[in-house]
Amino acid sequence: MARVYVITGPSGVGKGTLIKLLLERIPELELSVSATTRPPRPGEQDGKSYHFLTPQQFARAAAAGDFVEHAEYSGRRYGTLRSELEKRTADGHPVVLEIELQGARQVAAALPDAIRIFIAPPSLEALRTRLIGRGTDPPEQIERRLAVAEQELAAAGEFSRVVVNDDLDRAIDELEACVRATLDG
Ligand code: ADP
Ligand code: 5GP
Repeated sequence: MARVYVITGPSGVGKGTLIKLLLERIPELELSVSATTRPPRPGEQDGKSYHFLTPQQFARAAAAGDFVEHAEYSGRRYGTLRSELEKRTADGHPVVLEIELQGARQVAAALPDAIRIFIAPPSLEALRTRLIGRGTDPPEQIERRLAVAEQELAAAGEFSRVVVNDDLDRAIDELEACVRATLDG
């Protein structure tokens, strides 16, 4: 089976930004499109950013065993569809999953060969500044995400690979090196 990379880290740390650059640098990598019950943000397209499901659709898929992992985050459900992962790995493409901590733990159990990478912020204050600066979440969502972030940061030690996203150019170089070092076996 092709490599699976799990990229985890608190909301606003820069996972999306880093993954976009990583996919440009390593074109054979493919990003698995997750399912979620949260509403789309402006500009997000169904089937590209996420598969946007109703809570009923999500619950049905979970009951049918359609998810490799799924979790609740900030009052919404998120999950990796088995079909998303399998169609890519079947073609031999290494796949990136961008998921939160509980999902990353489930993947560690389900796919022990997956490479799990934690993206950490330089500080909680930097995280707050980035979440506010991104301008996509209302203030109460930002506070909820920061509260979860404290718990997530406490779990960074579960990951053998941690990349601190301080300076973006430096962090993407480190992430790319980490992925390239494990691409072939
Ligand atoms: P995530 O996907 O982890 O929620 P994003 O990739 O959306 O995070 O990044 C959150 C915000 O932080 C964005 O506005 C992004 O441009 C900014 N950002 C990302 N990396 C850095 C960095 N190294 N330094 C400063 N700002 C950054
Ligand atoms: P957002 O709402 O900002 O897009 O994502 C919120 C959180 O959900 C982020 O930490 C993101 O990594 C995580 N997430 C996105 N897709 C999945 C998924 O398929 N499974 C899990 N467990 N978490 C996900």
